[in-house]
Amino acid sequence: MESLVIRGNAFTVQDKYHVQYLADCLVCIDSDGWIERVLVPEDKDYERVLIAARQHHQLRELAEGEYLLPGFIDLHVHAPQWPQAGLALDRPLADWLNVYTFPLEARFNDRVFARKVYKDFVRTLLAHGTTTAMMFGTIHVDANMVLVDECRQQGLRGYVGQVTMDNPDQTPDYYRDHSAEEALAASEQFIQRVQASPDPDDLVTPVITPRFVPSCTDEALAGLGQLAAKYDLPIQSHVSESNWESQYAIDRFGMHDAEVLDHFGLLTARAVMAHGTQLTDGDMQLLRQQQTAIAHCPISNIYFGNGVLPVHRLLKMGNKVGLGSDISGGYTPSLYHNIRQAVKSSRMLTDGVDSKRPVEQRGVANSQITAATAFYLATAGGAHALHLAAGRIAVGCRADLQVVRAHQMWGKPSTADTFERLMYQTEAADIKGVYVNGHLVYEN
Ligand SMILES: [Zn+2]
Repeated sequence: MESLVIRGNAFTVQDKYHVQYLADCLVCIDSDGWIERVLVPEDKDYERVLIAARQHHQLRELAEGEYLLPGFIDLHVHAPQWPQAGLALDRPLADWLNVYTFPLEARFNDRVFARKVYKDFVRTLLAHGTTTAMMFGTIHVDANMVLVDECRQQGLRGYVGQVTMDNPDQTPDYYRDHSAEEALAASEQFIQRVQASPDPDDLVTPVITPRFVPSCTDEALAGLGQLAAKYDLPIQSHVSESNWESQYAIDRFGMHDAEVLDHFGLLTARAVMAHGTQLTDGDMQLLRQQQTAIAHCPISNIYFGNGVLPVHRLLKMGNKVGLGSDISGGYTPSLYHNIRQAVKSSRMLTDGVDSKRPVEQRGVANSQITAATAFYLATAGGAHALHLAAGRIAVGCRADLQVVRAHQMWGKPSTADTFERLMYQTEAADIKGVYVNGHLVYEN
């Protein structure tokens, strides 16, 4: 028996390259928050279900110009960096880390500060149509539990990580795990506290989170690989984000960054690695073999990535790819903005940027992706990475949805035009409602 029926025009992913349009459909959601049926007007049950839902006051009818979309899945975001989103992006990386990021993250030993930031941050993600987020916390178990609590209270599906960073060479004295042993104990304590606390809507999953290879000792990396196996948990980190990170792994281990992660048991089918702008063909093959997903963070990559991830090629080869905002390497929590940047960056990769070079030597041919593919990354691609039945408007998926108002269209636009306009022009103010597990968790 459905507890909610949403009636309206909807867009959902058909495959990596195409969008499906459902005109005047009924999305029927059961009392556990799953989509149990999607009916179109031609279906013989359509009228009966519509009338019953209306009688039982279980019907939401979208207004003219509104569309139903799957909620977005942000595969890579640093929750404690929310207060500095949009700051220091003109500074060199060392300043960005040492003057801004590390001092800010260190402040999360104060739970009151953590509560203030995380309450606002979770609300902001929902307000931008994000229904699932894979998040880094800090090294503080108590503050990370505040983030877990905000996800549950506000209804965001959260994958939350206790960050590990114990390498004295690459972390400041005031913000570091004092030893690998202490770091691993904190990670395990966090896992146990999340798993022991009530979660009636099944919203939060703890995540094994080495900050990245440079900030961890060998002992910590090995221990985290073992913890991930022991508790069968997802893993998140960064891989080959920049020239510096790639070279660091070679200098310290004589291996590529991806190979180091694999060596320590951190490239698994449940792992999500951010960026990957400097991955070699061999690294990509390794990720593919291990079924490890890449979180593409196109806005952040402009500032810190030293290159553009070849998304089109990765998808063609069968790598798992989703989309991340990477607050605050990226300045916006909006995956709409990241969808746009993913398309724009792919076009620049195709054409190249140095007009002094001969045309045929400027870019990487056939690298462009469309808005439909970028939408796939933000929805079904992210769900695939997380093994989550979500990211689509389809039977058997979680009812994680957003209601969006399209900007004025002139004449008689095609559905393809309407979709493209939604991808390019939707802002938070246009997002009228957000559902997670069929519950209305945000309304505007
Ligand atoms: Zn990151």
